[in-house]
Amino acid sequence: MTGDGTRAVRAGLPEPVAHEPSLPGPVFAAHYHLPGDVGGPYAYGRDANPTWTRLEEAIGTLESPDVPAYTVTFASGMAAISAVLFSHLRPGDAVVLPSDGYNLLAALRERLKGYGIEVRTAPTAGDAALDVLDGARLLWLETPSNPGLDVCDVRRLAGAAHERGALVAVDNTLATPLGQRPLDLGADFSVASGTKALTGHGDVLLGYVSTRDAGRADAVRLWRKTVGAIPGPMESWLAHRSLATLALRVRQQSVGALALAEALCGREEVSGVRHPGLPSDPSHATAVAQMRPGRFGNVVSFTLPDRAHAERFLAALTLVDDATSFGSVRSTAERRARWGGDAVPEGFIRFSVGVEDPEDLVADVRRALDTALRGA
Ligand SMILES: *Cc1c(COP(=O)(O)O)cnc(C)c1O
Repeated sequence: MTGDGTRAVRAGLPEPVAHEPSLPGPVFAAHYHLPGDVGGPYAYGRDANPTWTRLEEAIGTLESPDVPAYTVTFASGMAAISAVLFSHLRPGDAVVLPSDGYNLLAALRERLKGYGIEVRTAPTAGDAALDVLDGARLLWLETPSNPGLDVCDVRRLAGAAHERGALVAVDNTLATPLGQRPLDLGADFSVASGTKALTGHGDVLLGYVSTRDAGRADAVRLWRKTVGAIPGPMESWLAHRSLATLALRVRQQSVGALALAEALCGREEVSGVRHPGLPSDPSHATAVAQMRPGRFGNVVSFTLPDRAHAERFLAALTLVDDATSFGSVRSTAERRARWGGDAVPEGFIRFSVGVEDPEDLVADVRRALDTALRGA
């Protein structure tokens, strides 16, 4: 069995063909030639595309290297999340969602209620979903959670959910399949936004659902076909091209994130430093038990005294862009409260560590923190 990095380099590539590229170019087609009787995998562009097929095989190999899995790619992470929820929940069902997950889950909650689905919520920390599981049809987990970086025990929660006949989906966006493999931990679905660390360059929107159950994959695929939230061939090709460097990026970003978190812990004006790789973090023990060693994601969150202080800090950074999203090769940071929707203090910063040299990044952050202090 090869390592993750080796697997990622070749994942989903066809056998080499003389005078052909190792990753064939994107196939742009609304329809395919179909003389006579309809047969074969490709007929109409909304149903299937060979560029998706290769990417789906590649992601499936990373999410579930030892057991065959089916992966369905989407136009965005939200399209993938919605596909699982709306293809598997019926009026009268109950679903448990994280109260502290990705901020658009709140809008989704209202939509689900409108369809007659009972929505229960629980915070990620402390496996709180256990208390509201009875009678639920689906348990949705997001671990580590965005932006609070709490972690829940997927094995424990999946066991409890399955005992009660509930399905389990894990949002694996922050960890990526190289950081965590929810299907191995007992989840029925691993769902992610490929927009973040998976593709890692801040230039592609993408999502996917992986599952080992053919029937569930079919239901998700039929949802994609009927709603039409299909990934573009160019985006799919860019995503596949990016997977070859996933191990390098995840490793470098994790090292940088830990260095940053450690540096922040030594600052008096900084509070609430969170990163699952930090030995003192409340999530650390659970993260170590279920995430891959040394791959705890590239996000660090922390709080500065107030909004003005946080804005001075962001403005003083020179190697870090004030931008939303995370997981890119370039570091970004933002004052999360500017969006509303997350239950975070005004001075809360979500910091996404890129692949810069950690010493440079830490020096830039120290300098910006000093500037922010002086400007008070
Ligand atoms: C960004 C994000 C999403 C949504 O993904 P899009 O590709 O932006 O639609 C879902 N879950 C988490 C945890 C995210 O960070």
